[in-house]
Amino acid sequence: MHTTSVNLYIPFANRCLALPATCHARVLPTPVSAPRLIAFNAPLAAELGISAADASPADLAGVFSGNTVPEGAASVALAYAGHQFGGFSPQLGDGRAILMGDVVDLHGQARDLQWKGTGRTPFSRSGDGRAALGPVLREYLLSEAMHALGVPTTRALAAVTTGEQVLRDSPLPGGIVTRVAGSHLRIGTFQYFAARRDFTTLQVLVKEAIERHYPALAQADNRALALLEAVADRQSALVAKWLGLGFIHGVMNTDNMTLSGETIDYGPCAFMEAFAPDTVFSAIDNQGRYAYAEQPRILQWNLARLAEALLPLMAEDPEQAIAPAMAILETVPARVSHYWLAGFRAKLGLTTAEEGDAELVNGLLQAMHAVEADFTLTFRQLAAVADGQTPELAGLHPGLAPWIAEWQARLAREQEPGLEPNARTPQRRAAAMLATNPLFIPRNHRVEEAIRAAEDEDDFAPFLRLLEVVTNPWDYVTHRLPYAASALPAERVTRTFCGT
Ligand code: AMP
Ligand code: MG
Repeated sequence: MHTTSVNLYIPFANRCLALPATCHARVLPTPVSAPRLIAFNAPLAAELGISAADASPADLAGVFSGNTVPEGAASVALAYAGHQFGGFSPQLGDGRAILMGDVVDLHGQARDLQWKGTGRTPFSRSGDGRAALGPVLREYLLSEAMHALGVPTTRALAAVTTGEQVLRDSPLPGGIVTRVAGSHLRIGTFQYFAARRDFTTLQVLVKEAIERHYPALAQADNRALALLEAVADRQSALVAKWLGLGFIHGVMNTDNMTLSGETIDYGPCAFMEAFAPDTVFSAIDNQGRYAYAEQPRILQWNLARLAEALLPLMAEDPEQAIAPAMAILETVPARVSHYWLAGFRAKLGLTTAEEGDAELVNGLLQAMHAVEADFTLTFRQLAAVADGQTPELAGLHPGLAPWIAEWQARLAREQEPGLEPNARTPQRRAAAMLATNPLFIPRNHRVEEAIRAAEDEDDFAPFLRLLEVVTNPWDYVTHRLPYAASALPAERVTRTFCGT
């Protein structure tokens, strides 16, 4: 194996190798002809304890293409199953990804490093194990934007071009992204072993999930049940964050939902512009299964699949576990609503809770839907109104006027807890709203523009510019303002693809 000591040191801990052999298959990346570095996330590398100060772009391109396997790498493909669009596939697994290994980061947290696009593995089925450049850039942009927006997510450590083409509908330039995750434990990982009735491995994976993500549960009486509840809560918080940003994951299959509660798998995902609850971007989601407003319901459905996989560990007689597991699943809508409402209260500058707040938020969303208001910009414009501007000057559609009157009446009843009545001045409220509601999101036409320039003209400048913008989503910088605008009708991109 072509390990070498380039000027890059990754302090692998590789707890993945302590998992049962059933969990993975050893496999090396397939070298590519001419790797070239597109981006390297130096701050993230530092957080992971990686020493890269002396690494040249060629060193980095070597390691992050898989041409150079770094010293101490585990290099394994992980097994998992999953429900895709409702249908169960008992074997999926890392078909185009290889786990380089895991490290302990500067905060003491285990983190996985994974190449994506490094060639065939024992889980590739009929696929080529490769990734096209476009989806690599999309994942890099979207995952780093989500992190900057405060959403739990996998990260992007590096992206390279391979110098080779991959064959999709047409030949496309190839790319490889290195993804960093709290772990790659997916609901589908648990389904894989439950389907094989391998309860020994399942038990080990429950322990692994708890150690990595929920250490407080180590002493729980019923660890499988406690894990289900903890995951239900974290994923509810996650989906609520997506809703609060207009984010549509697009492929919420059970293999694309993590136990850590991190967003994973940036395939056909996108942020909506004009608010419409039934928005779907994914070209393969014909039924709208994963539409914006369906995400909480699908979350509950996915968690039911996790519950099924864990039932055999919850009680000697799994029948006995059904009622407590169901009781947890039934709390999911209330958990999502709770986080959703907290998020939208903050977006609207509210610091107190009133009975009618959910109706107030829904009233805004309905009005936005009716006038096709841009989801992201509307909340920035409302901040200007909170600061005393007229709605028209703030750029709001006149159709929102009745709702704004309601909101202003609600604001008049606001008192910051513990402070003098009305201590939250309009200016402070507006500032809080501007700090909550981002100005820049990775708008689909901008992502597409960056991909087009890279794929068609080998020009990565638009990608790098967009990356800078979306990783600073609150920085009001005038020269970046064009990136805040929604797409003109001719620029709109309404279809996205998985990139498989
Ligand atoms: P995804 O659409 O990324 O959730 O992938 C679903 C499954 O298909 C996973 O098991 C992937 O590893 C596999 N897969 C996707 N694309 C490829 C490819 N080009 N080669 C091999 N396997 C792939
Ligand atoms: Mg996936």
